[in-house]
Amino acid sequence: MIPTKRLVMIPGPVPVSQSVLSKLGSEVKAHTDPEFIAEFQQLLAELRSIMNCDGIAFLVAGSGTMAMEMAIANIANEKDKVLVCSNGHFGDRYISICKNRGLDMTTLEAEWGMSVTPEEVDRKLSEGKYTVAVVTHVETSTGVELPLKEMAAMMKEKHPEVLFVVDGVAAGGGVEVDMSWGIDVYFTCTQKAFCCVPGMSVTWTGSRALKKREEMGSIRESYIDYARWIPVMTDTRKYWGTPAVNNISALKESVRIMLEEGLEERYRRHREHARLIAEAMSAIGFRILAKEGYRSPTLSIFLYPENMPVDDAAFRAVCAAEGSLVAACLGDYAGKGFRMGHMGNLDKHMLISGVAAIERAAISCGLDVEPGAALAVMQRGLAGKY
Ligand SMILES: *Cc1c(COP(=O)(O)O)cnc(C)c1O
Repeated sequence: MIPTKRLVMIPGPVPVSQSVLSKLGSEVKAHTDPEFIAEFQQLLAELRSIMNCDGIAFLVAGSGTMAMEMAIANIANEKDKVLVCSNGHFGDRYISICKNRGLDMTTLEAEWGMSVTPEEVDRKLSEGKYTVAVVTHVETSTGVELPLKEMAAMMKEKHPEVLFVVDGVAAGGGVEVDMSWGIDVYFTCTQKAFCCVPGMSVTWTGSRALKKREEMGSIRESYIDYARWIPVMTDTRKYWGTPAVNNISALKESVRIMLEEGLEERYRRHREHARLIAEAMSAIGFRILAKEGYRSPTLSIFLYPENMPVDDAAFRAVCAAEGSLVAACLGDYAGKGFRMGHMGNLDKHMLISGVAAIERAAISCGLDVEPGAALAVMQRGLAGKY
């Protein structure tokens, strides 16, 4: 039997375009090659403009977790009072990173499926002399999108002295962001909605946060120290650590694809596809973990229907064999549903195939629904019959 192509429908890595992959296989250029230097410099300018960043985009090899650490290490030390908000697993990871750093930290936690609100954050920040606040734009364990624009507007109006840091790993490139809303540091990594391979992250840092870094003097870190990278990121002829030349060329191609689609269209498409997939999965009885009004455009957590005899691991194995690789749930939701990524450059074929494989797997695992019920929703939506 011909094996079924397996789509990577997890919240990163995501399916990557062939033109991007080709860059990885091209001859390795020296990081001192003028062609590479120009390409790198141009990419950094494009990255800054995508987020409307008035400072520097640090493009450094290392996964999203490195960016979490880099973002905080450069703007906070033991003297800072930091508020870390968590909407789930990755927010909790940030709490543990800040705890390890010995920061004077307070936490604000939302129930899974919900987000901390601007009112709650405002109230917390009003209680003490905070210097930094951290939130997660899209929480990957719950599929919750934080109301970032409202949150940033609140920060700008009520707490202008507090630096506002956003973990945008599961959002950046798929969800609207504009740092002029009032965001000081925003970061993501390349294997999520930027639709490239794993291995690098981008930490956009605005002028206010750069000023704070300068005031801090020397810090303990070296590889992730802004001060070491600023010369490189402002003049790519300079050297600190060897840049990941092929990954950078690949990301340049990913960004070209993003800009060719147009950011506004890209963000609209992500919302539209998320809505369609949610409707399709609801049509066959799956429930959505994230509360209405807080559902992310980039990924969803679907909870198994009550009437489905569930063996979670078996379901995901069948799903993979049918052609969609989906992820397990985290925390208390482990075993109760699955996580599906729908970010990046998913075309209509991938969307239909992705949902079709999930539907086939659910039916063969005992869910009693009419085959095609979920697909019909997708088809109607993609044919513009909504
Ligand atoms: C994936 C993810 C991370 C961690 O990124 P890695 O590349 O796996 O280190 C951090 N935060 C969020 C919100 C994520 O989705």
